Amino acid sequence: MLSVEEARAIVLGRIERLEPESVTLLESLGCVLAADVVSDIAVSPFDNSAMDGYAVQAADTAGATDESPVVLRVVDHIAAGSMPQGPVGPGEASRIMTGAPVPAGADAIVMVEVTESLEEGGSTGGTVAIRRAATHGDHIRKAGEDVALGETVLHAGEVVNAASIGLMAAVGTPMPLVYRRPHVAIVSTGDELVAVDAKPGPGQIRNSNSYSLAAQVIAAGGIPHMLGIARDNEADTRALLGRAPEFDLMVTTGGVSMGDFDVVKTVLEQMGKLDFWKVAMRPGAPQTYGTIGGTPFFGLPGNPTSTMVGFELFVRPAIRKMRGFASLDRPRVWATLAEHAKKKSDRRYFMRGVLNRVEGAEHGAPDYEARLSGRQSSAMLSSMHRAGCLISLPEGLSSVPAGTIVECIRLDQEEGTP
Ligand code: AMP
Ligand code: MG
Repeated sequence: MLSVEEARAIVLGRIERLEPESVTLLESLGCVLAADVVSDIAVSPFDNSAMDGYAVQAADTAGATDESPVVLRVVDHIAAGSMPQGPVGPGEASRIMTGAPVPAGADAIVMVEVTESLEEGGSTGGTVAIRRAATHGDHIRKAGEDVALGETVLHAGEVVNAASIGLMAAVGTPMPLVYRRPHVAIVSTGDELVAVDAKPGPGQIRNSNSYSLAAQVIAAGGIPHMLGIARDNEADTRALLGRAPEFDLMVTTGGVSMGDFDVVKTVLEQMGKLDFWKVAMRPGAPQTYGTIGGTPFFGLPGNPTSTMVGFELFVRPAIRKMRGFASLDRPRVWATLAEHAKKKSDRRYFMRGVLNRVEGAEHGAPDYEARLSGRQSSAMLSSMHRAGCLISLPEGLSSVPAGTIVECIRLDQEEGTP
């Protein structure tokens, strides 16, 4: 049996980054940039006002106070998006709005709060009282202050967030080049499975795995395609597994253990290549990996929590690698195990747990305490649902007493989160 690390090394050694594609700005959210983003303009392209107020020559306002304001002639009214009608000369002011171009001649903006319009609206032709002295450059945003023309604002390899999208919008990149999201085929296997909108008859259960898997694919940034249910016979299984080459990745659940009708492994060997089919872990030792027509294939076990944990450990990092991410691992923290845990010594256990911060932990002791999130049967989803982490209990131990310091994989945090 392979260790978890050996199995992951095989998978990640085979998986390759997908090719880049140009997508719309919003589609790029959360993707990895495949090219630098270079600005086609200066941002801002022109000197503009940071305030609603008056554009003035600062020298004119020297000594202005509430008691002895300076009165200037209003010569223009400049809205954002319009151009000044003319320059500001000595003794003059132009009413100006935030974001509007600063007129020639003006070297400062006086904010409207310290002025008083002496005629209706401070409009052109009237006068304005300035009650505060301005200095050269006040409230003027200089052209190119944020981004210079031709500047690289984002680099290949960076992950696009909301601010990156705003930046790309500003610098003329409406279709950024990012690594493509993989199309992931999902197949459930089992004679006992019925659709989620059906009431199970005798001996039947609902196909929940296709849905939890599709949700995990979406959360990992892939595009799920639920191909349906393969019944437990070779012909049916072959028909659906044979579609693997239409996709970037195929994930199946069930049919990979030692039952008489577990045919996935057999079909994989017939149609493609089997790299491994058993990993020394619990839940879910029968983790299967191979290729069909060159498409990576994950045969996850059927028990609902085994499926999800297998996805988390092997498929999620594979999807991230395809998407061009450098960080493939969820954050891990050390925690003090708050309760006794039993296990078999030949396997790594991934117990479903919750982390709590310990206030004022002793020096050298972990800042977290980990407890089980409920009963640990791999057939139960309820403890997986409550889990904020997987508590990793190493091979070689058969009993892990409370107080042991254990490593926990944070399911509640993204890869690359400090
Ligand atoms: P298998 O690995 O096919 O032997 O399945 C192991 C267990 O998981 C059995 O109890 C199955 O009924 C259950 N199971 C398999 N596939 C699914 C599925 N798609 N949704 C929910 N449970 C499943
Ligand atoms: Mg089955």
